[in-house]
Amino acid sequence: MYSRTQNENGTYNTRCLDCMMTVASSIETEDDVERLESRHMCPERALAQLLTKETAIAAQAQRN
Ligand SMILES: [Zn+2]
Repeated sequence: MYSRTQNENGTYNTRCLDCMMTVASSIETEDDVERLESRHMCPERALAQLLTKETAIAAQAQRN
């Protein structure tokens, strides 16, 4: 999830809503914004995925 804002000069900023990090600022086109967003390696999301995986493994272990 990203929050995009537009500057007065028409360029874009984008911020990651998971880690609240500014992914990019003063980007001229939406295509570039999308490219930079897809390149963002989010530490928060990586952690969340890891926890989800561990929870799933724990839940599976409890069933057996
Ligand atoms: Zn992030």
